[in-house]
Amino acid sequence: MDFNYSPEEEAFRKEVRDWLEENMQELPKWYGNPDVPGPESDSEESHQFTIWWHRKLYDAGYVGLPWPKEYGGRGATVMEQVVFNEELAKHRAPGPTNVIGIGWCGPTIMAVGTEEQKKRFLHKILTAEDIWCQAFSEPEAGSDLAGIQTRAVRDGDDYIINGQKVWTSGARWADWAILLTKTDLEAPRHRGMSYFLLDMHTPGVTVRPLKQITGGSDFNELFLDDVRIPASLMVGEENKGWYVAMGTLDFERSGAGASISRENNIKDIIRMAKKMERNGQPLSKDPEIRQKLAQFYIEVNVARYLGLRNLTHQLRGERPGPEGAVGHVFDAEFNLRLQDFMTQLLGPYHQLLKGSKYAVNQGRWASSWIGMRGTTIGTGTLEIQKNVIAQRALGLPRSY
Ligand SMILES: Cc1cc2nc3c(=O)[nH]c(=O)nc-3n(C[C@H](O)[C@H](O)[C@H](O)COP(=O)(O)OP(=O)(O)OC[C@H]3O[C@@H](n4cnc5c(N)ncnc54)[C@H](O)[C@@H]3O)c2cc1C
Repeated sequence: MDFNYSPEEEAFRKEVRDWLEENMQELPKWYGNPDVPGPESDSEESHQFTIWWHRKLYDAGYVGLPWPKEYGGRGATVMEQVVFNEELAKHRAPGPTNVIGIGWCGPTIMAVGTEEQKKRFLHKILTAEDIWCQAFSEPEAGSDLAGIQTRAVRDGDDYIINGQKVWTSGARWADWAILLTKTDLEAPRHRGMSYFLLDMHTPGVTVRPLKQITGGSDFNELFLDDVRIPASLMVGEENKGWYVAMGTLDFERSGAGASISRENNIKDIIRMAKKMERNGQPLSKDPEIRQKLAQFYIEVNVARYLGLRNLTHQLRGERPGPEGAVGHVFDAEFNLRLQDFMTQLLGPYHQLLKGSKYAVNQGRWASSWIGMRGTTIGTGTLEIQKNVIAQRALGLPRSY
């Protein structure tokens, strides 16, 4: 792989940098400053802030960079998207919102949707006029997604849907969902499923936020009672939804690899270790802490090269494959190790949450320590990701 950037890519980098430097001055004071109190991450204020910033990015042409122009994108190269992501992270600027829409739903509709679906949905995903969520998991079907019970029964030009979904991230703010249902109960498990686009404002759709251990409510239960969906909103063929869903999951898992944000995190910790003292000297002078910080820095770079390997696939125009699972496992395990290290670094101060005058960075480390566990489950648990690596990347046989 060529690690250099072309003159065009460097010119684009400068354009992005200039734009960020000018526009980030409009960000509220609490943004990016852990010592200034801001709104809760799942509050209305926070949601409105993400939409406001997203629209600015969109108007400047920085949302959906590699999407085709006919769908509202810029028709840019994958490398330009990489340069944009790098600058965003270097400047610690907020990214676009509607991550599920842009990252997973849009690419699925582009790959398998009808022309009508592409025209109706793609542009509004980019503008964030339509916010999307993913309604796959159910109380009895997460890893074993083929075990879903939600049913869709054909009725004239519509399907009538009944069932329950759970862990639906962002459903409270969503206008649309990608929805996986059973359409044939007699067929072998993977063959009787269909994939729909669900208008979340349809009668019979109820969203109930779940209270998490972090105190937030990022995900939800979703109840579907006699919900009518026009047949024209099915993606792919009836009973072949499993294959469409697997494509969505490949897009989802390919998103791992925010190496610059990881590096920023380590730099924050190093800065903190230089300021905090134990036994009369800065923590950064403690040989054991120095060793650990160096090790994390090395791992950040390992993760960077894993990301570049994934990127090479994309540059060759290949569909994302099981390599995304490698990045995901590495990322989640790295984050857990880092969070555990923070409990040692901060000692009893680590446990203090927002609101305590002794809390470090408004309790950022205590809540991220709890919240980080979720990254070993969301987008498929680490055990499932390891199964993907074993079977699809290494070609090992199934164990049963
Ligand atoms: C932060 C977060 C966000 C999420 N967002 C969404 C969302 O937006 N939309 C959505 O549809 N879902 C979402 N989910 C749900 C997520 O996809 C499921 O929680 C996940 O797939 C695991 O399913 P489960 O909870 O039913 O656990 P289970 O599948 O019951 O797993 C329980 C345990 O058994 C292990 N296990 C199960 N099967 C195997 C196997 N074959 N081999 C080895 N070990 C196995 C698992 O690894 C796990 O440790 C989210 C979850 C989290 C944590």
